[in-house]
Amino acid sequence: MTQTITVIRGDGIGPEIMDATLFVLDKLGTGLQYEYADAGLVALEKHGELIPATTLDSIKKNKVALKSPLTTPVGGGFSSINVALRRQFDLYANVRPAISFPNTKSRYENIDMITVRENTEGAYLAEGQEVSADGETAFSGTRITRKGSERIVRYAFELAKSTGRKKVTAVHKANIIKSTSGLFLDVAREVAARYPEIEFQEMIVDNACMQLVMRPEQFDILVTTNLFGDIISDLCAGLVGGLGLAPGANIGAEAAIFEAVHGTAPDIAGQGKANPVALMLAAAQMLDHVEQPQNAERLRKAIVATMEAKDSLTGDLGGTGTTMSFAQAIASRI
Ligand code: ATP
Repeated sequence: MTQTITVIRGDGIGPEIMDATLFVLDKLGTGLQYEYADAGLVALEKHGELIPATTLDSIKKNKVALKSPLTTPVGGGFSSINVALRRQFDLYANVRPAISFPNTKSRYENIDMITVRENTEGAYLAEGQEVSADGETAFSGTRITRKGSERIVRYAFELAKSTGRKKVTAVHKANIIKSTSGLFLDVAREVAARYPEIEFQEMIVDNACMQLVMRPEQFDILVTTNLFGDIISDLCAGLVGGLGLAPGANIGAEAAIFEAVHGTAPDIAGQGKANPVALMLAAAQMLDHVEQPQNAERLRKAIVATMEAKDSLTGDLGGTGTTMSFAQAIASRI
């Protein structure tokens, strides 16, 4: 049966990088059908809503969405549309690969790791936030649950199993934040015991940051709570050449949304300057998810070969190519 995915073209550079990505996907012959849906500023202008019900229905029905960056206007009723979408579909796993690519300005050439970040609870989604009337004291509460910790650590180990990876590192601060981080670590140990074939390592978050900068090649899969994951996954993106090459997946039991990590880049929108690789790598994650791992691998290899040849690279990678000429160079290697 033909599979349909929801495609959200997004704001700013979104439509350009999506066109480039779909061009490459079509070259792969994935057989996927696209159902276009609006979100963000473009949806507000067209439908009067940032996330129209038709878009939510489309994601619910298709269970898989490829999404370009979205603008969340100030005062639009959301702190972030992305966070709202993650909450709506209970997309508990944020999966961010960081892989070295040739001819980037990164410090390392041998990085291949994945950060698995809990997406639905923890300090990032603090509860009861308030600042006292005199402005002297601020408060926010952090909730960590056994269920939330269990499913994210299990996801990390299942990912290790299905991708042939050998090690999972749980990143925590249980030595100081004994309640919330302590519960996460306890549950991580319990889950790890069910996967004796995969090495389990525990690392305190401050040490993890230092180790990531000094010896990143020691890591394989990192699993951690929401706020630590937010920070660590950007650190990892920086280690491999920045946000232009960083994809992310948000995965839940009922739906999954694949996206570039960077924003809408309004400064270069509409000029053909945007690097489409982050969204293409998100599309590769999506192909793995829809059980087309061979196409995912063909896409990743074509991207690497194009970067190796420095063929039509966009300006952020030091080239003079455009979004579409870069996509054509990648497509020609598929
Ligand atoms: P937003 O408000 O949507 O987060 P932003 O401009 O604040 O947008 P990013 O979109 O992440 O944040 O952009 C940060 C910088 O990186 C900008 O200078 C932008 O031009 C550049 N940039 C981001 N994505 C890309 C890309 N795909 N290709 C080239 N440059 C990019």
